[in-house]
Formats: sequence, structure tokens, C-alpha cells
Amino acid sequence: MTRTVYFDNNATTPVSPEVAEAMLPYLTEFYGNPSSIHRFGAQVGEAIAAARQQVAALIGAADPVEVIFTGSGTEGDNAAIRGMLEARPDRRHIVTTQVEHPAVLGLCQHLERKGYRVTWLGVDESGALDLAELRAALTDDTALVSVMWANNETGVIFPVEQIGEIVRSRGIPFHVDAVQAAGKIPVRVQELPIDLLTISAHKFYAPKGVGALYVRRGITFPPFLIGGHQERNRRAGTENVAAIVGMGKAAEVALQRLAEDARHAGQLRDLLESLLLESCPGSRVNGQGQNRVPNTSNISFRYLEGESILVLLDQAGICASTGSACTAGSSEPSHVLRAMQAPADWLQGAVRFSLGRFNTEDEVRYVNQMVPSIVQRLQGLSALGKLGQQECSQPEQRRTSTVGARG
Ligand code: PLP
Repeated sequence: MTRTVYFDNNATTPVSPEVAEAMLPYLTEFYGNPSSIHRFGAQVGEAIAAARQQVAALIGAADPVEVIFTGSGTEGDNAAIRGMLEARPDRRHIVTTQVEHPAVLGLCQHLERKGYRVTWLGVDESGALDLAELRAALTDDTALVSVMWANNETGVIFPVEQIGEIVRSRGIPFHVDAVQAAGKIPVRVQELPIDLLTISAHKFYAPKGVGALYVRRGITFPPFLIGGHQERNRRAGTENVAAIVGMGKAAEVALQRLAEDARHAGQLRDLLESLLLESCPGSRVNGQGQNRVPNTSNISFRYLEGESILVLLDQAGICASTGSACTAGSSEPSHVLRAMQAPADWLQGAVRFSLGRFNTEDEVRYVNQMVPSIVQRLQGLSALGKLGQQECSQPEQRRTSTVGARG
């Protein structure tokens, strides 16, 4: 039996034992509807209120009423963008980036087809935004700016505080997709010029299908699901109580363990990168040199196909990904690496390893044991790979094999 090594924590995380335990009574004992007048329902309503406080604490919101529970990160992103457009119907311009998750990217493409004007901010080779480009993009017609905090494929962190200051100085609402930031780096939304912020529970050890949208007090935000009075009339529908309770517990644990989790994942990620760059000539880290979330590593293997590497990794019991789980299955190269102007010979061979709380150094060493032979095997199968083998056996070549390395 091969072992399983799960290095795909940006796709989703396992539900942690304490979260499962917190949820269980809300699947069995406390099944009341939180909107019911009777005590049995009210008790459940209290559990939701407690979860709202826990989530507000994780993101540093001033007031739990600023937190709306949603059914996913995708829903939060869609609701934020559509909400801002509805709130200012006279404005027809959106500013976002070329490297967003499909939850923002796909919606903005859709809105573009519907007649909105979208400015797609580019990034440089290391994945950084040009703030002068952002400044120049803002007009009196701009309805909102939506920028992710941390990139799901590379882990590159955008300077949301600086971006928010520029956006706020023009009186434009600013939405941040913080799905890959929450639980990995400190998020203190109240102290930042951010108006709306999306998170998703399954990225920090809670179940899938629950998330939250932060809406700063004072921001006009129309309801996005209309029906009952749940979520202060903003998102109607009977609450997914057990999942919300689980998200609250996970938020509490993530906040308590923030520094410890970041240190743990960061040490493993750095070890993995240094081992793989050494053992696999013709590999490089995408986004290296940029500020990145500590758990994410995006490594390109020159001349190879990421999908083929994944298949062989899977046979060795190693779970990784080529990029966003939402674009997996398409043979299109990553839109993120394309925006970073990755040269053609590096573009297809990207593999994302994303580590988490439950990974170990032993697993990193196992991955480093398996990857070089997989890479060599694939290089042997590809004419270009053979070329890469020859080229990359020269140490000079190896030294220049990182993108965006500074200094
Ligand atoms: N935004 C980012 C940056 C993500 O990484 C993801 C999921 O991978 C989402 C949004 C969508 O979240 P969900 O899977 O909860 O819909």
C-alpha cells in the first residue's frame, strides 16, 4: 500500500477533529431552525451568533454584524461584486487583476460580456502588481476594485493596505478575496482600508460549502438572496447551522494557532523548495522573491507537463495540483503564470504544493525522494525534456533557475 501525502491544502483542508466534534451536536441533537420562536430554535440561533463572533475575530472585524455567512468563497466574491454594481448602477467600470481566482475572474468576464468595462491589471514576472497602473485605472465611473489578498496558485501576497489607500482616496469601494489569506497570515480588516472581504471555511480546516462575506458598516449593500430575513435580510435561506458552527470553531482555532501554523508550514515549504531545487535540475519557484503566504510553493519543471507529473505523483500517493482546483482538468496553461510572462518552456510544467497543519517533515522528504525520479522519467519520454536534462546538468543554468528572485 502506498502512503498518502496530502500537499493540496490550497484546494481544500481536512476538517480538524475539534471542528467535527463541535459540529456533531448540530447534526444530531440541536436540529431546530434558528428562526423559530421556541427555545429549541433560539438555542441554535445562539450557536450561529457565537460562530459569527469567532469569524469576526479571525478577520479582525469591529462588529460581528459585519459578517454574513455564505455558501462558499465563490458566493462571497460574486455577492460582493454584484452588490457593489447594484448599489451604484450609474457606474459601469470594474478594476481587477489578471491573476484572480475564477470566482472573480469568471464573473468579471461575464460582466464584460454584459457591457461593463473591466480593467485587468497585469503583474510582473515575479507576480507583483504595479500600483501606478492601478492609480491610472481609477475613474469616476469605477464602481469597485476587487483584488485578491493571496494568490491561490503561487501564494504571492498583494499589498492590500496600499491598494486600499489608493482606492479609498477616490471614494471607490474595495473588495478583497482573502480566501487564501485567512488562517495563514494576520487579517485585521477593521484597521485596513477594505470595505468587503471574502473568506471560505474549507481552506482553514472547516467543511466545504460555507464561507463568509465581510461588509464594513456604512457600506450600502443590497440583499443578494431575497426571501426570509436571515443574515439581516441580506442573504435569505435557512442557515447551514452545523457548517457555520464548524466554521466558527475553525476560525477560533486558526486565530489561536496563527503564528504556530504559519511557522510550521513555512519551515516545511522552505525545506521542500530547497530540496527540490537541488534534486531536480531545471526546476524553479514561481513567485520566489515575492512576499508569499507561508504554505504555498509553485514549482515549474522545465519542458514538462504539470498534468503528467501529477499523474505520477498520484501513483506515488502524493496529492498536489497544477494550480486552481477550479481550472484543473483543462489543458490550458495557468492564467496566473501566463500573466507572469512565464516563458513557454516553463509554463506547462508547474506543480503547486500547498502544505498545512497536519503535514510533516517526513512527508516533505518522501516527496523529495519521489519527485526527481518522476521528473527524470518524464524527461526521458520527451525530446525537449532530454534537452533540458543536458542543459540543466550545467550548474550555471541551475543558478539562474528562479523567477523574480530579488537581489
Ligand atoms: N478565491 C480564492 C483565492 C480561492 O482560492 C478559492 C478556492 O480555491 C475561491 C475564491 C473559491 O472558494 P470556494 O471553493 O469556497 O468557492
